[in-house]
Amino acid sequence: MIEEPLFKKLVLIGLGLIGSSIARAAKKHKAVGEIAALDASPQVLARVRELQIADDASGGMMHALQGADLVIICAPVGAAGAIAQQIAPHLERGAILSDVGSVKGSVVAQIAPHVPAGVHFVPAHPLAGTEYSGPDAGFASLFENRWCILTPPNGESQAVEALAEFWKRLGAKVETTTPEHHDLALAITSHLPHLIAFNIVGTADHLEKVTEQEVVKFSASGFRDFTRIAASDPTMWRDVFLHNKDAVLDMLSRFNADLQSLQRMIEQGDGQGLFELFTRTRAIRRGILEQGQDTTAPDFGRPHGESG
Ligand code: NAP
Repeated sequence: MIEEPLFKKLVLIGLGLIGSSIARAAKKHKAVGEIAALDASPQVLARVRELQIADDASGGMMHALQGADLVIICAPVGAAGAIAQQIAPHLERGAILSDVGSVKGSVVAQIAPHVPAGVHFVPAHPLAGTEYSGPDAGFASLFENRWCILTPPNGESQAVEALAEFWKRLGAKVETTTPEHHDLALAITSHLPHLIAFNIVGTADHLEKVTEQEVVKFSASGFRDFTRIAASDPTMWRDVFLHNKDAVLDMLSRFNADLQSLQRMIEQGDGQGLFELFTRTRAIRRGILEQGQDTTAPDFGRPHGESG
């Protein structure tokens, strides 16, 4: 069955990992008639032209936005307000304006004041990514079987439905919630784990000066899984922590309290307490695998020798 495009013209602003993956997926699934790319960096646009993942990457804002019925901001969340202000005069009536930012409360606060009458603002966050960035890092299957969370304001039901159909065409599952709830949930499921990874890799980096090469040599025993997360884009993550400050600090203080309780269990030789906690955490991993949100292969499917 040949599916009709859902939108005439998609404009992507910021063609890094997420923006270039949307471009590739939208092309693959014929979700839009044409794609225009805008980016702050001329080098990124040149690369987009080489990769041929957009129909227009000439960089002219007015030209790109002409006739666009879907515009998605895919830049770091700290840039959302300035981008919205720049594009606002060129947005066409009836267009949907969206984003992919990892924080929703701050992004809504930055963008909403600039949205012209007749333009439908529906913020979104696809829960999909890797530790790589830039237009070469994107791939068409990034969103398959991943959640995309929409945080729409009241009274945008038609636009919400249209955007949900777009994300479903790209292979995602869609859910809607409020920006506040999104930011709290993501603080524990994504932002805090990244903060812990940045911290543990930073601590090991200091230690390495003492242990010389051992941190790298013995990294397979758990540490390297943190290094993957800690390799994520510094600009993006700086902005996430600065723009989801309250929820992250709330989760961080709960985390610190739980860490202290673990410390006490070790100090007091409370083996039963440790065993019970680790049994609960193991069950959470099983739940993630049962829902198809990660590979069931041991050690994430890394190759291992026959014996050992
Ligand atoms: P990325 O690979 O670093 O790409 C961001 C792109 O936006 C870069 O090409 C950057 O250019 C460009 N840019 C920066 N400021 C801009 C501006 N003012 N106007 C236009 N373009 C601008 O980042 P990403 O991983 O795709 O992340 C993009 C957004 O997706 C962020 O809001 C992030 O929170 C969200 N997100 C990320 C992930 C993930 O895992 N990576 C997952 C879900 C959502 P320069 O390189 O020249 O700065």
